[in-house]
Amino acid sequence: MNIVGKEDKRIFNERSYNLFDKIVWLARQDLQLEKVAIDFYLNTDNVLDDDSLAEVHYFPHNKIKYKIFIREELSKTEFVKKILHEIVHVSQFESGLLSRGDNGAYKWRGKEYTRNFYLNFPWEKEARKIELLSGDYVARARKI
Ligand SMILES: [Zn+2]
Repeated sequence: MNIVGKEDKRIFNERSYNLFDKIVWLARQDLQLEKVAIDFYLNTDNVLDDDSLAEVHYFPHNKIKYKIFIREELSKTEFVKKILHEIVHVSQFESGLLSRGDNGAYKWRGKEYTRNFYLNFPWEKEARKIELLSGDYVARARKI
């Protein structure tokens, strides 16, 4: 597992990832997450489920509260979408809308969800909305 970047550094800059870096910066501004510590990781086969393209892991008691894991082999478009998607989940955790119970089950607005199908979870529906804005984020990032 390679650490791509930490929240206080410009991430992705050792590759042609400058654009992604700017997109992350924009999304963090839009969602008021500038002060939230997030680490990003690529090449995460040992972490991600087989059918998972990206995930955010939440460590409420750690200095770095969020770790976002992303598959490196994604297309640029998918990569941008998944970054934005996972940052929305960070925002949901930060606001307290999304949380996890002691049993590991997700809670949304205090209600526990255990049997619902993954894609229908309300926090997933919300996170997928920002994926539709990925083109806007790319355009804004190119102007920075
Ligand atoms: Zn999600």
